[in-house]
Amino acid sequence: MSNTNKLLSNYFGKNEFVGSFQSYRDIKNPLSKNDCCFLGRSNVGKSSIINSITRKKNLAKTSKTPGRTQSINIFLINDQINLVDLPGYGYAKVSKVMRQNLETLIQEYVENQLKLIHAYILIDAKVGVKNSDIDMFDLLSESNRNFSIIFTKIDKCSRSYLDELEKSMKSLMKSYIKYFNQFFFTSSKKFEGIIDVQKDIYTLSKQL
Ligand code: GDP
Repeated sequence: MSNTNKLLSNYFGKNEFVGSFQSYRDIKNPLSKNDCCFLGRSNVGKSSIINSITRKKNLAKTSKTPGRTQSINIFLINDQINLVDLPGYGYAKVSKVMRQNLETLIQEYVENQLKLIHAYILIDAKVGVKNSDIDMFDLLSESNRNFSIIFTKIDKCSRSYLDELEKSMKSLMKSYIKYFNQFFFTSSKKFEGIIDVQKDIYTLSKQL
């Protein structure tokens, strides 16, 4: 293992579940550390990537226990930065009212959480961008939030497909030039691209 990998492994290995909160107003953040948040459509692979980043098999499973899928789940990494797991959006199988509640929860957090310094939007590489993702890009940019896009499950896609995806997404991101930061191509299954995301979070955590 290289020194950088070892550093990241130690850094992200030290983490704790802070809590599960029903709304942004309920968040108790006694250490008042900065947040980076993870957003994405249901089933995008959010729990898997949080587990890969924190190198814990089941850290994000906590957020999947009944009653917690609709809340904001916070993990503190190395006492320095909060990794905030927001509920999955765009899930067709829940009622319209619940969908609206989840969207409100996400919106209130994004608009109001002063400690939020970066958002990662996860997109299933094979599924591509949906309108609900575009709504999130709009919400983030209207709230003056910097964001990056993490493509997930790239093990399911060919190199040429991913190149085309990147090209079309680059073009879409021209509309968000002020807030869009970068793309990450990841597979939790193959542990690809995870270190790049870790490096990015590590760098963010040094931001005061
Ligand atoms: P969440 O609902 O966004 O938290 O998504 P999960 O992490 O629970 O993953 C949803 C499904 O996608 C599960 O069946 C995972 O096994 C699968 N999955 C997650 N990440 C990957 C990946 O990198 N590659 C592949 N092939 N499947 C994945």
